[in-house]
Amino acid sequence: MKLVGDFYAYLWPGVNMQEMMKYGNNCNSYVVANTLPGNKHVLVDPGQVVNETKQRCLDRLIAEMKKDNLKIEDVGLIINTHAHPDHYGASETIRKMSGCQVAIGKEENEFLKLAGGEMRQALKSMGFEMPEINPDFYLSEGELRLNQNLVAKIFLIPGHSDGHIGIYWPKEKIFMGGDLVFFGSTGRVDIPGGSAELLKKSIEQIAKLDIEYLCTGHQYGSPGIIKGKEQIKQNFEIIRRSIFPYL
Ligand SMILES: [Zn+2]
Repeated sequence: MKLVGDFYAYLWPGVNMQEMMKYGNNCNSYVVANTLPGNKHVLVDPGQVVNETKQRCLDRLIAEMKKDNLKIEDVGLIINTHAHPDHYGASETIRKMSGCQVAIGKEENEFLKLAGGEMRQALKSMGFEMPEINPDFYLSEGELRLNQNLVAKIFLIPGHSDGHIGIYWPKEKIFMGGDLVFFGSTGRVDIPGGSAELLKKSIEQIAKLDIEYLCTGHQYGSPGIIKGKEQIKQNFEIIRRSIFPYL
C-alpha cells in the first residue's frame, strides 16, 4: 500500500488477536520505490520466507507489491534494521531473485560475529532459526545517499538489539524504526544484545526527531504506522509513562 510519494508499506496482518493467531509473527516491510539507478527499489526489512505458523510471508510480500506495480526482481538494495530472523530472514532469497545488495548496521554485524552463536541458541529456544545473511556493506550512523535528491539518515538505536539501526527520511519525515517502538509498547530487550538502558536512550533520541510517519516493525494488535506529529508525541509519552518503569 502506498504511504506517501515513493514510499510503500506492507504491514504483516496482526491488528487484532484473531489475525495474530492466524498469521503468526513476521515484520512489516517498507519499500522506497524507483530510487536507485535503473529505477530499482530499496526494501527495508523483507521479513521471513516462511514463518512459524507456515505462512508464506515472502509470497505475500511479492503479491502485495505486485498490486502496487512493484516487482521483487527490481529490488536493488535491502536494508535490515537488525539481525533478527523475522526481519532479515528473506534477504538472501530475494538476492537470488533480484541480484540486490544487502546491508545491515556495522555494529549489528560486529555483535553477530562476537555473539552470534549465543543469539542463535536463544532464538532457537523461542522457535526461530537464523537463516544465512551475507551483507555486501555495513551501515554506520550518518547520511546514506541513494540518489542525487534522496538522502536517508541512519541512526544507531541499540536496545532491542546491539547494533539496531533506524532510517529517517527527512523530506517526508518518515522514520522506519524496526523494533524500537510500537503503538504503546517497545521492542523486547531479553534477546542477547538487548539492553533496557540503551533502548530508553535510543527512544529519547528518536523522540526528538520531526516525524510525521512512524513506521514500526510490527502491528502487535494495533496500527503498524503511527501518523501525525501529535499522535507520535503521545505514543512516546505513553511509552515513557507505562513501559519505561518496567524495562
Ligand atoms: Zn527483533
